[in-house]
Amino acid sequence: MRHDPERDAAAYLAGELSTLRRIRFERHMLDCRACWSEANTAREGRILAESLREAAPASTRERIRAVADVPAESPVRQRARWPYVLAAATAVLVVLAAVVIPQVIERRQPAPLVAAAALLKSNALTLSREPVPAMKTIGAYGWRGTTQRDLAGIPATIYDYVAPEGRRLLVIASSQEFPRARNARDLDPAPSWLARVDEVSLLCADKHGLSWLAAATDDAAALRAGRALGLT
Ligand SMILES: [Zn+2]
Repeated sequence: MRHDPERDAAAYLAGELSTLRRIRFERHMLDCRACWSEANTAREGRILAESLREAAPASTRERIRAVADVPAESPVRQRARWPYVLAAATAVLVVLAAVVIPQVIERRQPAPLVAAAALLKSNALTLSREPVPAMKTIGAYGWRGTTQRDLAGIPATIYDYVAPEGRRLLVIASSQEFPRARNARDLDPAPSWLARVDEVSLLCADKHGLSWLAAATDDAAALRAGRALGLT
């Protein structure tokens, strides 16, 4: 956009620009320091001039306005600006809705799955010897205890397994169905799935009227656990 900061800013503040030119100039100002500071300086000058209005006689007021070269705004014109402000705000919301919000939603996983992933990483579960799992060992992993937890609204029994080198595996059972992770990969038999949630591999499957979740450090370990448990 070709620009004349002084003239454009004055015309902008005076409300002399057409709707299209106003919007263009507002966009331009976001990237143009010269026009931005010109509009800002002129606006401050006008505010200063207007603030003198109350104290000054009419003739002085007119003289200040003439010097500032910025006509006073009528209340009607101020109101007339609102549709453009609203249009600009709507445009911002449209951009947010189209670009930003899907990205946020894409990253946000169902809370019970986030809670399960956090449990694998925390390594701070208070474990008891009951109930004993059907399988005390899964590959290199050995069961070391069980705990009952509420995973963001889903009551769950959590079996904690650990391998000799310290890697852990959680086998989680619930009478309630776990929500499906975003970007989950389908496994056989459906509706089993595998997904990465917060750097934890989650395998989910239904069996014996329970919903099962295996949480492991990597996909291979989660898949091995799923096979060993007869889930997939
Ligand atoms: Zn400019």
